Order: sequence, then structure tokens, then C-alpha cells
Amino acid sequence: MPILLLLLVIFALSPILPLVATFYFWYARRKASKAANAANLTGKQVAEQILAANELTSVPVNTAKDAVGDHYDPKSREIALTSDVRDKVSLFGMAVAAHEVGHALQQKEGYRYFAWWLAVAPYAHIGTFVLQVIVIGIGFFFPPILMLLVVVYSVMFLMSLLSLPNEYDASRRALAQLDRLGMFKSADERKIAKTVLIAAGLTYVAKAIQDLFLAIYWALRSSRN
Ligand SMILES: [Zn+2]
Repeated sequence: MPILLLLLVIFALSPILPLVATFYFWYARRKASKAANAANLTGKQVAEQILAANELTSVPVNTAKDAVGDHYDPKSREIALTSDVRDKVSLFGMAVAAHEVGHALQQKEGYRYFAWWLAVAPYAHIGTFVLQVIVIGIGFFFPPILMLLVVVYSVMFLMSLLSLPNEYDASRRALAQLDRLGMFKSADERKIAKTVLIAAGLTYVAKAIQDLFLAIYWALRSSRN
């Protein structure tokens, strides 16, 4: 059956998607990290200037541990940037810092998806990860329980899918703010920064697709048994 064959090919390729997306992000990051920005601003300065322009001076720009990564914490209302992003002058730092401020702007403006995501995401992430480990662990001794992976990966897919509008919106805001404040000094700078944001977004898309394929894979496997 050609459709079945197609599905098999897609399944075989599905782990490659996140790899390709990660590699593309790594490539874009490397290029943008090497490029200083002509405005000569560190990530911290970029974030602070955008925050000030939006009357959000109460949001501090702290240092994040490398293992945790760059993020905006909606509970403590702080931006945390890894030292590479925060303290160096690069287009990469500029793009990432602006993206995290984008999340702060979402919260300030009561962006609908953000509020919803904020309430659910931390629990859903930990919950599904723990469930996945437990199901696979028990599956070694009692294989029928592996059918539950259909549920686990479906929930993971939904979460990945729901985080996409949030991430896209934060990057859209980031570019708009960088444009508005005239932080790009050439079209080339804008292009390099935009590529970083697109590449970062693609890693989320790839994750969503992979979760979907895993859910379908386990659904087909359990329907065969
Ligand atoms: Zn983000």
C-alpha cells in the first residue's frame, strides 16, 4: 500500500527533522555570534532599551545559568540571559535578548495565548516527561502498557503545537522593536538576526512534528496488536 509505505518513510525520517533544525539553528547561531552589531550593544543593553521604550523598567535583566538557558520568567517578571548573550556584543545576543523581551511584552499586554500557556506549560512539561519515563520503564517488563505512549506523545504534540504561536509572536515583537528603535544599522544585520529567530522557531516546529509522528507510530503499533 503506497500510503503505508509513505508513512514508514516519514517515520524513518522523523528523528532527522529535529536534528536538521538543531543543526540549522547551530549554524545561524554561529554566524550571528561572530557578527558584532554596529550599534555596539550587549544583549543586556538591547533588552534594557526595549524595556525602557515600553515602560517596563521594573523588569531586571539577570544572568541565566547555561544549563537553564535564556528565558523570561513570568512569575518573578525577570529576563534571564546566558552570559554569552547578556554581556557580549553580537547580533545573536541582540536577537535573543529582544525575543525574551517579546515575552515580557506579551505578559504586559495580556496576550491571550501567553496567559493560557503560563498556567499549563510547567506542569504539562514535567508531567508528560515523567509519565513517558515511567511508561517506557514498565514497558520493559509489561509491553502492553506501551500503548499509553499514544496518549503521552499526543499531549506532548499538543503542547509543542500550542507553544508555536507564543514563540512566533515573541520573535515578531522582537523584530518590530529592533526596527522601531533603529538598532539594526544595515539590511544585512537585520537578515542575520531574523535568520536566528526563524531557526530557533524551526526547532519548535520540528519538535511538534516529531511528537506527532511518535503518537501516530504508537497508535499504529498498538492497533496492530
Ligand atoms: Zn521564547
